[in-house]
Parts: sequence; structure tokens; C-alpha cells
Amino acid sequence: MKYVMATHNPNKLLELQRILEPLHIEVTTADLQDVEETGETFAENAFLKAKAACDQTGLPAVADDSGLEVDALHGAPGVYSARYAGPDATDAQRMEKLLGELEGIPAGQRTARFVSAICVVYPDGKRIDVEGTCEGSVAFAPRGTDGFGYDPIFYVPEYGCTTASMSSETKNAISHRGKALQLIKPVIGAYLETKGI
Ligand code: IMP
Repeated sequence: MKYVMATHNPNKLLELQRILEPLHIEVTTADLQDVEETGETFAENAFLKAKAACDQTGLPAVADDSGLEVDALHGAPGVYSARYAGPDATDAQRMEKLLGELEGIPAGQRTARFVSAICVVYPDGKRIDVEGTCEGSVAFAPRGTDGFGYDPIFYVPEYGCTTASMSSETKNAISHRGKALQLIKPVIGAYLETKGI
């Protein structure tokens, strides 16, 4: 069975392919029109992208939406994580902006979480939603060179380092996206069983 993933990120595609392979699901991408992420939650944006991909291809479609919620900023940058410092800003500029907003906020009040919402939409209208989170805090300065986005300033207390200082295996095991992907597998499996597939 073939699914399409609404993403331009080859790493996300690979992760999903690996997770769904045991269910005999082949995940591909397609030349999809970009969708405006107008939702107010990660789940809404994931749904908008998956629904558009399903409508355009006629295939079951998967999409994810993710970002960083900082408690001291009432959940910002949240769904605006990618656009936090303007449309053409770099990861470094986004981190700088966030560190600036948190200036003077002490260690104990810098709690934050990465959130990943994944949505699957089937041509018959069926919709599956899962969400994974990874709890941590915003560091005072970037540390580590791996990962992407806000990883150099996302500190995970249990590991005593930022997600940019972890091996990709460790990050995938504890990350918001890794957890959401693990959650989606049994839900898709159960749905396919009800359809006799
Ligand atoms: P998107 O869902 O891929 O558009 O991601 C939204 C934004 O959230 C990205 O541009 C990153 O800035 C941030 N983000 C999402 N997941 C991660 C992560 O695992 N590490 C660091 N930043 C992330």
C-alpha cells in the first residue's frame, strides 16, 4: 500500500519509511502545492497539509507540524517556530531572537517543550492524529553542533546536554517526532485491520 508524505525534508521521509515498513506501507513524496499553515495548533496545520496532499494525489497522506513552546513566553514561538524571526531568517537568527526574549529569565523558569503533531488523512475521509512531546528548557547559549533548528539551545535535563549534543539515535529515541512516529504505527495498523488490509 502506498502513502504520500507532505514534506520537503528527506530526513522526515526516511524516518516515516522506517517506521511504517513493517506494515508493508510504502511512503513516497509527490510534487505537491505548498499549503498555507493557517492553523492555530500543530494538529490543525498537520491536518491542513495531509488533507491537501490526499486531495491532490488520491492517496492516503501523512504530514507533520512541529515547533517549540516556551512557558515563559506563553507557548511562543509555537506554530510560528519556523517563521519566528521572519520568513528568510536563519536558525542562528531564530535562536538569537528567542534568547533575547528570555533575557533575565532565570534557569528554573525557562521550561519548554518540542511538540510534533502527525496527521494521516485517507481518501475515505478517515483521519488519524497523534502528538509527541519532548520536555526540556531553553539554555542560556547555544551548545552542540548536531541536529537543526533550535537544537543547540534546547537543554534536556535527564541527559545534561542540548539536543544538538546528542547522537541522532538518542535524539530520535526521546524526541517529540520520534515519540509521535512510534504512536502512529499501532493506530495505522489497527485501522488497516478494520478495513481487512
Ligand atoms: P516544521 O514542522 O518542520 O516546519 O518545523 C518547525 C520549526 O520548528 C523548525 O523550523 C524548527 O525551527 C523547529 N523544530 C521542529 N522540530 C525541531 C527539532 O527536532 N529540533 C530543533 N528545532 C525543531
